[in-house]
Amino acid sequence: SPQVFANAPGLFRNPATSPRDAGHKYDRGHAVVFSGGMARTGAARLAAMAALRGGAGLVTVYAPGSALMAHAAHLTAIMLERCNDAADFDALLCDARTNAFVLGPGFGIGEDARRYASAVLAAGRRLVLDADGITSFQDEPETLFAAAKAATSDDGAPLVLTPHAGEFKRLFPDLAGDATLSKLERTRSAARRAGAVVVLKGRDTVIAAPDGRAAINSNGTPWLATAGSGDVLSGIVAAQLAQGAPSFEAACAGVWMHGRAAEHFGSGLIAEDLAPMLPQVHTELA
Ligand code: AMP
Ligand code: MG
Repeated sequence: SPQVFANAPGLFRNPATSPRDAGHKYDRGHAVVFSGGMARTGAARLAAMAALRGGAGLVTVYAPGSALMAHAAHLTAIMLERCNDAADFDALLCDARTNAFVLGPGFGIGEDARRYASAVLAAGRRLVLDADGITSFQDEPETLFAAAKAATSDDGAPLVLTPHAGEFKRLFPDLAGDATLSKLERTRSAARRAGAVVVLKGRDTVIAAPDGRAAINSNGTPWLATAGSGDVLSGIVAAQLAQGAPSFEAACAGVWMHGRAAEHFGSGLIAEDLAPMLPQVHTELA
């Protein structure tokens, strides 16, 4: 029967985060974070900063025109790209080096999210779908699952879903409502059904892959229950994907690093504090 790993050091503490000697920034991948409109740009920046501190070689925030000025005022090492229409997006996908995407934090719920998520998967890229990205598929989860399965290759699942309990219920209402299932069983069934790695967050986070592998992580602190905390997690996982970690390993390492960053910061944590703790986490792992 498939293995379950609980706080397994070999799984959680073995992220793809050591730059090769004489390595190139593109060796560590290029993560793209989709931004929503003007009023909600902070979530995308939290994810983008976490992706960069998480070890991605390059990070781009991909934003609608209304959000450009807000981002431009805040971003330095992170690049900013305007999205006007489908042609812009095709151009972005033409660059084979953009290898990991984050869609959902502060994005807004609706057709745009569904279209971009499907296009990323169809282009053979890896996607962390969180927050509004997950909620956008609540009326048609099968569309998402079919796209994930169609894009699955020898490299494994192309999609990582990072729901909290409420978001999980929107995609998997039957599993969420089945009181006979443990959190582990629920997450495993969801991963198999979705053809995706599912990260069901909370005090204990369960990570499951479509092939039955599953892991439970319980590091972190209650201070992680704060606005934007999950957005940071999606960026850290994307950094792992950008660096070439397989999806299940990327999710496990990302969840562990996120919790560990919170432990390093200590009390009074807000979401902005997590990415600046990642250098300490990298040092500890080196
Ligand atoms: P979100 O709800 O999307 O902002 O995500 C919250 C993040 O914080 C997830 O990574 C959770 O696993 C984590 N988290 C929330 N509450 C706790 C807690 N009490 N202890 C540890 N981690 C938590
Ligand atoms: Mg969230």
